[in-house]
Amino acid sequence: MPDSFPDNIASNYGDNTLSREKVCLHADSIAFKIRNISDRIPKFGLDDYSDDAVHGRLEWLEQALNKKLEYIRGRKVPNKKWEGNIENLIGVAQFPLAIMGPILINGQYANGKYYVPFATTEGAITTVYNTGMKIINECGGVDVHVQENNLHITPAFHTKTIDSSKNLKLWIENNFSEIKARAESTTRHGTLISISCIVAEQMLLTKFLFNTADAQGMNMINVATLAACEFIESQTGYKFTERSNYSAVKKISDHINMETFGKSAFAEARIPPSQLKKLRVTPRQMESLWRKGYLASMRSNMRGINCQVANCLAGIFLACGQDMADLTSSHVATSNCEVLENGDLYISLHIPSLLVGTVGGGTGTGTQKECLEIMDCYGSGRVMKFAEIIVAAALCGELVTGAALVTRKFVQGHALLGRNKPN
Ligand code: NAP
Repeated sequence: MPDSFPDNIASNYGDNTLSREKVCLHADSIAFKIRNISDRIPKFGLDDYSDDAVHGRLEWLEQALNKKLEYIRGRKVPNKKWEGNIENLIGVAQFPLAIMGPILINGQYANGKYYVPFATTEGAITTVYNTGMKIINECGGVDVHVQENNLHITPAFHTKTIDSSKNLKLWIENNFSEIKARAESTTRHGTLISISCIVAEQMLLTKFLFNTADAQGMNMINVATLAACEFIESQTGYKFTERSNYSAVKKISDHINMETFGKSAFAEARIPPSQLKKLRVTPRQMESLWRKGYLASMRSNMRGINCQVANCLAGIFLACGQDMADLTSSHVATSNCEVLENGDLYISLHIPSLLVGTVGGGTGTGTQKECLEIMDCYGSGRVMKFAEIIVAAALCGELVTGAALVTRKFVQGHALLGRNKPN
């Protein structure tokens, strides 16, 4: 049994082989009836949704990670633990959870092969990503880069005249160090980077930009900004409203493309024609699809032009306890396909405002925490790695969805795997 495991798993647990003893412990499990476990996600043919198959796949994953996934297996989170996440609790909603990958990633924070958990009720999507991952792995993997870690909110000070707005702006600029100290006194991890003041007639918009470390950070910066604004009010007498709507939190505005709201994440891969053949497309066809897609998207003034990045983000966000409403800004992304001089396809993706966290919010409980742990992405020092994995996975979906559109298999794929039509 050649049970060699992915590099990220090997580095986490210092062992890149599955020993025969470990296999014997689970000899009665369906997963180990498979002769070649390696890093392939086990499939069970027509029986793939049976309890044995699902448990078998989970056991296989637990073996690969050398970790028990108790909550994914079905252990219930004590109701008390949800305090701080929800009110009027009546139970839990169930979403099916899949595993995808592994995906080979060449990044600064994510380096090696990763399995990606995915929660969705939309059939066909996990197959799309898995197919893309397999092909891109054969081509050397996805190169990724994540930069910036910014989050802002913009309170409004009520100044009544343009002149007083200008004066308050000057006062804030001159007292930045003191304001920063007040803001940062409320947090151990957040850093106030800047305050941009925008004179808007009878009010001064004050955009507070923070680095939020590993947290999504909205609670963190709310508290810090409030402390700073109360200080400004106490010193200048100008009243303020906690938010003006200028930062477009959970909305879409031009900020998202122009200035990072979260992380700015890039992914790229080069696919030779021989690999694209598996999808029955050529580099030229893919380039042409994207060019025409750009023209059509411009007609509708689309913000961020891509095939289906939102699907990828939704599945990973839901699995990993992210704030689902942050899909509004996070999904704005631009993908591109070009034929290189050597005839290969170059495919790229940029998500300019990917808002995610690996501590706080909904990340620390039950299946959400376990899903982050599957990628070694739970806790401090992990958020950039998480962002790199997300953008890499999303790129795989762009490749396969694009190819399905070229070959006119998009509708067929969904019809085959993604319908639950009531009678
Ligand atoms: P949180 O649950 O308040 O946790 C964040 C806190 O974790 C930080 O303030 C920090 O404490 C602590 N922490 C520990 N280790 C950390 C590390 N390595 N890096 C960063 N922080 C660390 O969550 P949050 O991220 O601030 O807020 C997230 C949730 O609140 C999201 O679901 C968000 O959408 C939701 N929310 C949204 C809005 C909105 O208007 N959209 C408003 C409020 C809340 P210290 O500060 O002491 O360092």
